Amino acid sequence: MKPKIWLSSPHMGGGEEQFVKEAFETNWIAPLGPNVNGFEQDLELFLGQGCHAAALSSGTAGLHLALVLLGVKAGDEVICQSMTFSATANPITYVGATPVFVDSEADTWNMSPLLLEQAIKERIALGKKPKAIIPVHLYGMPARMEEITIIARDYGIPVIEDAAEALGSSINGRKCGTFGDIGVLSFNGNKIITTSGGGALVAHSSGVVKDARFLATQARDEAPHYQHSQIGYNYRMSNLCAGVGRGQMQVLADRIKQRRSIYEQYHNHLSGRKGISFTEEPVGYFSIRWLTTILIDPATAGCTREELRLAFDAENIESRPLWKPMHMQPVFEQYPFYGDGTSERLFQNGLCLPSGSNLTDEDMERIFAVIDTYCK
Ligand SMILES: *Cc1c(COP(=O)(O)O)cnc(C)c1O
Repeated sequence: MKPKIWLSSPHMGGGEEQFVKEAFETNWIAPLGPNVNGFEQDLELFLGQGCHAAALSSGTAGLHLALVLLGVKAGDEVICQSMTFSATANPITYVGATPVFVDSEADTWNMSPLLLEQAIKERIALGKKPKAIIPVHLYGMPARMEEITIIARDYGIPVIEDAAEALGSSINGRKCGTFGDIGVLSFNGNKIITTSGGGALVAHSSGVVKDARFLATQARDEAPHYQHSQIGYNYRMSNLCAGVGRGQMQVLADRIKQRRSIYEQYHNHLSGRKGISFTEEPVGYFSIRWLTTILIDPATAGCTREELRLAFDAENIESRPLWKPMHMQPVFEQYPFYGDGTSERLFQNGLCLPSGSNLTDEDMERIFAVIDTYCK
C-alpha cells in the first residue's frame, strides 16, 4: 500500500521545539506562562485592527465563551450558518439557546445576506429577536462580511465570526476574525496552523477579552481564597501548546502561500475540464485556501462525487464530502431553517481535496492520476 495522503495534516516549522523546550527548562508546564502571552501578542500583531486575543483550549470553547459574554441565555435564539462543522452550532445549545439556521449563497458558500435578513425579519415578527449571528468563513473563503455586518447593525444584533478555517484570509486587506463583535479562531491539528489543540477569542474591546480570560480560568474573583460570583470554565490554553503556536506563527505566511499554491495546482490541472468547478475569490477577497474544494456535476464530469471519493480511498488518499449542513443533521433537524437549496446542492456534489501545506509533487501526481483515470 502506498503511504497515506491526508486531507490536511499538521506541518511543523522547526521553531516550535525551542519554545516548548524553554517551557520545560523554566518549568512553565502549568497552564499560562510566557508562551501564552507571547502567542496572544503574535495573534494580535498578525490580525491588526487593534484587536485583542485570548488563547483558549479550543475554537469550540471560544464560541461558547462568545455566547456567554454576549449574554445569550436559555430560550434565546441565535442565527447560525447551516453549512458548517457542528462545532459552530453545538455551543448554542450549551447555553440552552435555539439555533436558527440560514443557508449559504453560491459564490462564497457562506451565509446568504438575503436569507439572513429574511430570517431576522421573520423571527422578530414571531416575537423573538435573535441574540447573535454566527457566520463562518468555510474552507478559508471569507463570508459576505460587509453585507452581514450592515444587516446586523441595522437590527442591533451582535456578530460572532467563526474564523476557525480562515486565519489569514481577508477582505480588502482586513483580516477575517476582525469583522464581528467577537471572532473565534481554531488551532486544531487539521487547521492551517496548529497548537496540537487550541483556539482563540478575538475582539476589538480589551474589556471583552479580559472577561474571556476571566471566565476561561474558572471566574476567580480577586481574593486570597478562592472566591466566585460567576460560573467559570476551564478553557485556557496551556503554556506548552502556546509554545507550539508561537513556532507556528513564524511560518504562517509560508503555510498560506503553500495552501494557495496547492489550490493553483488543482485549478491549473482541472480548470479546462467539463463538470468540475472551483470557488473563485470575489473582488477584494483573499482566501487562504485552507482546503481546496470542487463541485462535480455528474452529468458532465464523467464521475460522481462519491465515485471519485471512493477511487481516492482505494489509493489510500483521503478526501471528504463538503460539510453536511446542520439543518440536515439528525441532531439539529427540528430547528428553524431559512434556505433555498444552495447548501443541499453543495453537499450533494462537493468534495474536499487533500490540501495540506506539506503535500509533495509526488503526492500531487498520485492525486491527479486518480482524477484523470476516474473522471473522463
Ligand atoms: C475546527 C472548527 C471549529 C472548532 O474548533 P476546535 O478548535 O476544533 O474546537 C469551529 N468551527 C469551524 C468552522 C471549524 O472548522
